[in-house]
Amino acid sequence: MSGSDNKVLFERIALIGAGLIGSSLAHVVRRDGLAGHIAVSARTQATLDKIQELGLADSVHLDASEAAQDADLVVLCTPVGVYGDIAKAIAPSLKPGAIVTDVGSCKQSVIDDVRPHLPEGVHLVPGHPVAGTEHSGPEAGFAELFEGRWAILTPETDTDEDAIEAVADLWRRAGSFIEIMEARHHDQVLAITSHLPQLVAYTIVDTATGLEDHLKGEVVKFSAGGFRDFTRLAASDPVMWRDICLANKDAILDILGRFTEDLTALQRAIRRGEAKTLEESFARTRAIRRGVIDAKQD
Ligand code: NAP
Repeated sequence: MSGSDNKVLFERIALIGAGLIGSSLAHVVRRDGLAGHIAVSARTQATLDKIQELGLADSVHLDASEAAQDADLVVLCTPVGVYGDIAKAIAPSLKPGAIVTDVGSCKQSVIDDVRPHLPEGVHLVPGHPVAGTEHSGPEAGFAELFEGRWAILTPETDTDEDAIEAVADLWRRAGSFIEIMEARHHDQVLAITSHLPQLVAYTIVDTATGLEDHLKGEVVKFSAGGFRDFTRLAASDPVMWRDICLANKDAILDILGRFTEDLTALQRAIRRGEAKTLEESFARTRAIRRGVIDAKQD
């Protein structure tokens, strides 16, 4: 699926942010020789030192605009809340024909925050690899992260086809399948498949944290009953999720509203002892699990 056809796709790639996703992409680009030069920027020198130690960069820069200088492809790999500031900072360094893409978990906000800063002749191709773990930072990355996963691209309708194809090619080389969709549609879909589960996990773990001491003590001990699966999700980076909630506010509030209604209906069925309603609801959801396994996304 990957690593078979080594060909330089971009003379210079700049990765802005080098945590789980940025460093995983750097692993892919390095492994397959997809760039003549990999420039990496991060907020702290410690991250840049680690990236160098791992051999994932040809140059490292605390200043994102230095990394973006003369880059053919710039990939924003930071939390989405700082995209606007970064776009503003790198704009003067971007050469005509450069492509700016990203890996953020919501997409309309990328168009809203980044597009206004980009000079004429620079192509914006927002992207989202639907792959991840609960780990963060430069050491968390690995090249296989994106294999067999979807990379969703959400270009605006007037975007240069070659630029879209170049970004799609990068993700194909990472082993991903490509889907192209409208940014708002992406945000609605991800609100249900990713953002709601994450918020439910945070809430369940928070509920357990707020229990009386005599119950709290037993939660970890008996966590294999289901709780531990939620703790894995709830261990994800708080800044990243703060930014996703704020950037995808409308779609998340819509889906939380529906979820709350369904939860209330479930609560009522339990209170009234409506066995048939409960069983029917749980049988419907079982079928979804089979669909996930069949689609090899489990
Ligand atoms: P991460 O491991 O926490 O790494 C974030 C990186 O961004 C770090 O290198 C950090 O630098 C850098 N950064 C943070 N603020 C910055 C700023 N103001 N200026 C420059 N660099 C800054 O995060 P991640 O999990 O890779 O997530 C990155 C992006 O991928 C997010 O937009 C997220 O929505 C998206 N995403 C995440 C997942 C996932 O499962 N984690 C999956 C798909 C998409 P320092 O290390 O120096 O602080």
